[in-house]
Amino acid sequence: MAPTKTRKSKPKNRKLSPVGQTFQSVSSPRSSREWVERKSRGIRILQVPTLANIPWLIHGFSTKPGGVSNQDDEKILNLGFTEWDTKENVLENRRRFQSALGAPDLKLVSLKQIHSDVIHLFDTAPTEPCQGDASVTNRLALLLGVQTADCVPILLVDPKKRAVAAVHAGWRGTLARIVVKAIGQMQMQFKSNPADILAAIGPSIGGCCYEVGTEVATQFLSQFAEAPQWFAEFRTGDEPNPIQWLNMMPPGHQPPPKNVLLDLRKANRAQLLGVGLRSSNIFVNDLCTACHRDLLFSYRKEGPQSGRLLSVIGIRSEGNL
Ligand SMILES: [Zn+2]
Repeated sequence: MAPTKTRKSKPKNRKLSPVGQTFQSVSSPRSSREWVERKSRGIRILQVPTLANIPWLIHGFSTKPGGVSNQDDEKILNLGFTEWDTKENVLENRRRFQSALGAPDLKLVSLKQIHSDVIHLFDTAPTEPCQGDASVTNRLALLLGVQTADCVPILLVDPKKRAVAAVHAGWRGTLARIVVKAIGQMQMQFKSNPADILAAIGPSIGGCCYEVGTEVATQFLSQFAEAPQWFAEFRTGDEPNPIQWLNMMPPGHQPPPKNVLLDLRKANRAQLLGVGLRSSNIFVNDLCTACHRDLLFSYRKEGPQSGRLLSVIGIRSEGNL
């Protein structure tokens, strides 16, 4: 596996309301039932209360409603530059999103994401967009962002060392352990102790909908002992062996399935636990982008017409206070 590359480059509306029934806890004790929604001018932002309570921290996961982009006679908050939308719309959406977050003055740093394990350490905002899939900083007034429409956005904060990271983890990034490497960067650059780090795993495509080929599953199985727990087969309920497809040579005349279901959230949560994060410090949002298209964007379901969600984390300009 390629080593992690690090390139050195150069308030407060706290109105939070419980999200309610939309979120159902399924697997983890710190599940999305504990998340809250922050509403401002038609924009809805998902947040974790534990992170929102840190005075110097800004964080949030965007959703679809609000904004100025038009699709199917609906105004939506598309936060990524796509072919179907104008640059002006996206910039205005980003402005409104930051304003709703109470962070209009922070400088947004978003990457040209390439499904890699490349991590950037930022001291200042780059003049040109950098290629990579995670960013870390301990500087004030930078807003680290990742764009997604199914992939897993992960925000990390070390409240003791006052450092943050934003990670984009699709299946390739997850396979390359990008979130583990981001934690490694925080340890190396800021002397973070993983036991102190809080992680928010935002909305992404769920294990209910994320179909991948068995060749993808095989790669995970070759690298992670616990990987069988992250996959599910399309099942009728009668199969004697739930992971029959694993050996790829089933007895009798039943061919192995071409596709299986992958739960990327479980995989990333397991990786975070594996490097020493406390279970109680990992907050997983269970909303599936493909199941909740009224609230989120799904590339799998919508294709190139899909909008982009933006997940951000940063230290306020007055972060020393
Ligand atoms: Zn789903």
